[in-house]
Amino acid sequence: MDDRKTLEALFAQHGCTDFRWIDPKQIVVAAWVRMKCRFGCQDYGKAAACPPHLPSPTECERFFSEYQEAALFRFSKAVEKPEDRHAWTRSVNARLLKLERAVFMAGNPKAFVLFIDPCNLCTECTDDPKDCPNPQNARPSLEGLSVDVFSTVRKAGYPIEVLTDYAQEMNRYGMVMVM
Ligand code: SF4
Repeated sequence: MDDRKTLEALFAQHGCTDFRWIDPKQIVVAAWVRMKCRFGCQDYGKAAACPPHLPSPTECERFFSEYQEAALFRFSKAVEKPEDRHAWTRSVNARLLKLERAVFMAGNPKAFVLFIDPCNLCTECTDDPKDCPNPQNARPSLEGLSVDVFSTVRKAGYPIEVLTDYAQEMNRYGMVMVM
């Protein structure tokens, strides 16, 4: 399809070359994902674009149901120390944000990007969305919107595993909801 070719050229321009087109009906939204945010995440309540500041899993499901087309992006990297991952995910998220703008300008008013990690555009995130200095650019991650990333990416034929140490290569996933 010509529309897809146009978008694929934009993906390449933004360094997002490892992707699969998916039907958003393939996106698995699950209550357990939100439960893992609520219990077990040390940043719960401390990040403006994460739960509990995001819509409920039911509302997330409704959001995804309004789309017919999305692209799932894979980004892979191994880091020496856990904290090294943040600079990398910040740069990928910033790229995805620029891609969202380009997809929008290409005639897709519903364009919306989901980050590969919690929004970390700032080096320190604020606890409260009211204090976010950059609300026009803040975006949730897939997990933040209660997406079961394991099931969703496996359905698309992509690999993902629970990692047991940081020397292993991470597979991280972002998405652009297109139309
Ligand atoms: S833009 Fe900054 S303060 Fe706002 S959600 Fe993202 S990291 Fe947090």
